[in-house]
Amino acid sequence: MKSDFIWMDGEMVPFAEANVHVLAPTLHYGVGVFEGIRSYQTPNGPAVFRLRDHVQRFLDSIQVLGVLDYPHSLPEIQQAVFDTIHANGLTECYIRPIMYLDGPLGLNIDLSTPKLAIAAWEWGPYLGAEAQISGIHMMVASLSRLHPNVNMTKSKITGNYANSMMVKSIALRSGYDEAVILDTAGYVAECTGENIFMVRNGIMYTPPTASVLEGLTRDTVIKLATDLGIPVAEEMITRDQLYIADEVFITGTAAEIVPAVKIDYREIGTGRPGEVVESLLKSYLDTVHGQGKRSDEWLEYVPAKNPG
Ligand code: PMP
Repeated sequence: MKSDFIWMDGEMVPFAEANVHVLAPTLHYGVGVFEGIRSYQTPNGPAVFRLRDHVQRFLDSIQVLGVLDYPHSLPEIQQAVFDTIHANGLTECYIRPIMYLDGPLGLNIDLSTPKLAIAAWEWGPYLGAEAQISGIHMMVASLSRLHPNVNMTKSKITGNYANSMMVKSIALRSGYDEAVILDTAGYVAECTGENIFMVRNGIMYTPPTASVLEGLTRDTVIKLATDLGIPVAEEMITRDQLYIADEVFITGTAAEIVPAVKIDYREIGTGRPGEVVESLLKSYLDTVHGQGKRSDEWLEYVPAKNPG
């Protein structure tokens, strides 16, 4: 997670100096918003995958949080992402924009000043390249996922990730790789930083978006599956439906696509990654690397550095 510069409100700040005051409201109350985006190498140079959609979700998250009159526009943030990639000499990287609140400590959003920082660094698949090939073991978490009327689920508000971090840490301490989190009604929602899919009798299922983040990888995978002729249904799923599925896999920008071959000590299907997840992973990697049918639709090429 190291790079040379972090973009902070228009300035390229050296990594070690990119600091925020300890009394910033975001640190105390979890009132920040972030995104996770990836850039990939393609035959036509580096390109950011679904940049516009990520920046739009970032602005939507800010809207959900209720910060009024956010000063940075979509094109400005897109340009700042490209500038950050250039400043750090990166091609394949993970990009992390964050909106944080500066100003007096207190619970009134309107008294604080919204800021923007963008970091980027080289980062392989979040759960490891091996996990994509061999699959992972997940547990079902004892904590529930956020209720839409407590911490809204359509936004990447930093405070929402207290739930993710507590769940993920218990999973890792217990020897699992990741956790499935159920919604407050007991239905499968999502994982700590990924959406979830299962396959049964040739049909791919994923929970509807009501109580989960509208993942861009989720959307990508649904479209790639449709292109491959795999039927997709958005339906409520129970934990026992996961146990008896033929395949389970999870999706996210950081993790990409990862098969779950065991859940709560039950082998899923054959206990090895299935053919649906394998074909989707291939199609996904081709697409993000500029070799897929939909690559042009989704890739935004990093413009050559302005000589000025
Ligand atoms: N759910 C949660 C809770 C997440 O944090 C993420 C990661 N952004 C996802 C799902 C997957 O979203 P995406 O595919 O857009 O990265």
